[in-house]
Amino acid sequence: MADFSDLTLDVVKVRRDFPILDREVHGKPLVYLDNAATSQTPRQVIAMFDDYYGRYNANIHRGLHTLADEATAAFEGTRETVRAFLNAGETREIVFTRGTTEAINLVANSWGRVNLGPGDEVLISRLEHHSNIVPWQLLAGELGFAIKVIPVDERGVLDMAAYRDLFTERTRLVAVNHISNAFGTINPVREMARVAHEHGARILVDGAQAAPHQAIDVRDIDADFYAFSGHKVYGPTGVGVLYGKAGLLEAMPPWQGGGEMIRTVSFETPTTFADIPHKFEAGTPAIAEVIALGRALQWVQEIGLELIGAWEARLLEHATEGVQGIEGLRVLGTAPDKAGVLSFVVDGAHSQDIGLLIDQLGVAIRTGHHCAQPLLAQFGLDATCRASFAAYNTPEEIDVFVEGLERVVGMLR
Ligand code: PLP
Repeated sequence: MADFSDLTLDVVKVRRDFPILDREVHGKPLVYLDNAATSQTPRQVIAMFDDYYGRYNANIHRGLHTLADEATAAFEGTRETVRAFLNAGETREIVFTRGTTEAINLVANSWGRVNLGPGDEVLISRLEHHSNIVPWQLLAGELGFAIKVIPVDERGVLDMAAYRDLFTERTRLVAVNHISNAFGTINPVREMARVAHEHGARILVDGAQAAPHQAIDVRDIDADFYAFSGHKVYGPTGVGVLYGKAGLLEAMPPWQGGGEMIRTVSFETPTTFADIPHKFEAGTPAIAEVIALGRALQWVQEIGLELIGAWEARLLEHATEGVQGIEGLRVLGTAPDKAGVLSFVVDGAHSQDIGLLIDQLGVAIRTGHHCAQPLLAQFGLDATCRASFAAYNTPEEIDVFVEGLERVVGMLR
């Protein structure tokens, strides 16, 4: 059993912040281990919705009245919270989006359309989520650039020698995740950025899985773009962040047009656009969600990402040990540098059946391709089971999961 005694995380106190953890599923206490898909939301974050809609619901930026001022201040206050969370240099480098997917599509459709053309090359790793593959494929189909794939080894670790060899004078962009959602591999994005820049290429880091698990410093990584989603970091759905270096964002054309993103609109003279970041925030944003995201990031920082990461690493160790004895079980993703994700298959038992049966015991895990079909295909798989951990999970919950899995596998094999 992994030893948790040196960690100061007060998990009983942490759990008190999550009303959902008190509920039962099929008459059993909920054990929620699907955190890589969506993490649960603390009451402090839920309360922000009541506060906003109950006290100062108003559209931002345009109003002169008190409510509009208050809403604008809270919304723009979150921009500063996000800046500090990422250690970005300036708040204007923080663009609010609907999530990681939209952030990547923004870069593809704005930066990509100006900077990519026939003969150019974009490097994407085999570890990517579909949202960091498909936007580039759609654009490549239109603009005629090539996509080259950074290979992974049998542990789910990127082949860095192959990565270096993929560069040519036509390489324009590297698009890679910080942490793989399917296997939990932590990628050496700082080194990858260094190599990309050496070759005059830009790097976009998909941080959807990193934001909840480790402190992020976009300037230390030297990321050109960095994206994450609110709902994976104890915040709401429908909101996310694109960080971009100011010089890059300034040079990029708008992507979506509409209100908020313009300076002047005319039929007689060319329409002019707002400064960054507003140039990329067309229309009324998810105001309450952005404000609540700010509270979620504060909640995470109140506990400390270092402590959360260490706690989850211990949970992973405990779970990995626990499933060792299950006959026919194989863990996918055995990188030495790995976040709190346990992906596995069991010979003779279909992943979907495991997921359905273990849900009957109150345990929520994810089964399927995890939006990483190219990665799973390399291992001859179309699905795995995935348990993923958060700050509120306990070693006792891992025991319930392991015992449940033993029972379910016993029934299926
Ligand atoms: N990238 C990674 C690594 C992810 O895990 C996910 C979601 O699972 C995404 C991107 C997409 O995030 P969203 O659906 O919030 O846009």
